[in-house]
Amino acid sequence: MNCPNCSKTWIAEILWGYPEDTESLEEALEKKEIVLGGCLVTEHDPRWECNSCNHRWGHAEHNDEDKIDSFDFGQGFNIEEVYDQ
Ligand SMILES: [Zn+2]
Repeated sequence: MNCPNCSKTWIAEILWGYPEDTESLEEALEKKEIVLGGCLVTEHDPRWECNSCNHRWGHAEHNDEDKIDSFDFGQGFNIEEVYDQ
């Protein structure tokens, strides 16, 4: 997947809400595989953030039952879930 703004491939998935255990996220955060979007969750949150130009796009799927424990870092990116806002 490439950034729709600058075409770079260094992209992080935005994690919304409060992570319960940031310790398990440290490595992913350091590698910028994910970034924290904050605790304010809306219906219009982006899902991806470009680490090169900070452009955000896509659509985050918020699920109350989707705890951080079930966050699958190995699932990869699905380009079909991405759309321009
Ligand atoms: Zn970019």
